[in-house]
Amino acid sequence: MAEVQEFSPEPGALEWETPLYRTALAQYEQALPHANVEELVAERLRYPERALVVSVPVKLDAGRWRVFPGYRVQHSTVLGPTKGGVRYDAEVTLGECAALAMWMTWKCALLRLPYGGAKGGVRCNPRELSTDELQKITRRFTSELLPIIGPQEDIPAPDMATNEQTMAWMMDTYSMQVGHAVPEIVTGKPISLGGSLFRQEATGAGVVMVIIRACERLGWSLGEQRCVVQGFGNVGGVAAAELHERGARVVAVSDVSGGVHDEHGLDVPALRRFAAERGSLEEFLECERVTNEELLELPCDILVLAAREDQVHGDNAPRIKAKMVAEGANGPTSLEADAILGERGIVVLPDVLTNAGGVTVSYFEWVQDLGRLFWDRAEIRAKLADQLNDAFDRVWKLADEQGLSLRSAALVAGIREVSGALTARGIYP
Ligand code: GLU
Repeated sequence: MAEVQEFSPEPGALEWETPLYRTALAQYEQALPHANVEELVAERLRYPERALVVSVPVKLDAGRWRVFPGYRVQHSTVLGPTKGGVRYDAEVTLGECAALAMWMTWKCALLRLPYGGAKGGVRCNPRELSTDELQKITRRFTSELLPIIGPQEDIPAPDMATNEQTMAWMMDTYSMQVGHAVPEIVTGKPISLGGSLFRQEATGAGVVMVIIRACERLGWSLGEQRCVVQGFGNVGGVAAAELHERGARVVAVSDVSGGVHDEHGLDVPALRRFAAERGSLEEFLECERVTNEELLELPCDILVLAAREDQVHGDNAPRIKAKMVAEGANGPTSLEADAILGERGIVVLPDVLTNAGGVTVSYFEWVQDLGRLFWDRAEIRAKLADQLNDAFDRVWKLADEQGLSLRSAALVAGIREVSGALTARGIYP
């Protein structure tokens, strides 16, 4: 449809233009020819539906005031309310949130959750802020978002450097505004406020469920795999522990302070205790220290990327030695790296599938809150495994049938769900 092209601005030339948004868009374009989408619908999904830019004034402990930029981008409301995390990071921009919101749309649709994607955050350095300052940022940011969030509109959750406490402050701020407790406004809350059992471990545990399914398909025994895990927070720390528990040999892990390496296998539970007590692995000197860059290139079978975006890029992709790369973070592999890894025959388990355990249990949390009921941990774990295995099998089959990478197949599956619904609804008015 020529008309569509003629009147639309180039999405990459709009306010959210950033390398990460271009990556999300390029992945979308790669998948699109296999998704059988009408051009008008395809064009509509290139753009986030809505973006809000706010500023968050906060009096710091030292008495000075600072104004932090904040964002919330909602990519698609075709399938339901929007859903996605809030991150506190020095690199948060409108474009980063737009890319991450688009990925959330495909992720939710692939998992058949009744949501579209959103993402938001505040540009700040959370490591330099006290608990009190973080609380003030969270409460003011939440009140700035009031016009666009709600249990049926947009449901925030934790992401980088945010956690259960952040969600408790968000839930309280929202509830105070409406005059009654609204647990279903956020997910990833403390259990005492209506949070779900197993939500905290869900993303990391889900990463390992997807790895296990992939190993089964490839005829690999998990117990024989040497694993490297980049990132030792809520995703990487849990994934490392789950791999260790299931008999895999975790030979290296890292956090922002760098990595630790032991070819014979690390004592992951001891490292988790150390990190919990000291706040990081920085002072852990009982085994060889490696830099984050060295860690990525260590000889291993499975490399779990659970830190942040753009970690494997054109420069280091040729030196990655793993046979399988599992994306626990969002967007950790650049477009160029993705092509290099593909050519080298390295299996990439894509983010929209591999880290979808978090948002899936967020969905379970929201459903429990709306129904005012609570499921037990075993039930949630089993439901999560079923949902991830079902998505994995659909992606594997599609990749096989159409000769696609697992990433393209995952995106095609997600895009088809959303575009099918949008075609049926039609574009308003
Ligand atoms: N921030 C997580 C993600 O990127 C979880 C989002 C959610 O639970 O809504 O998938």
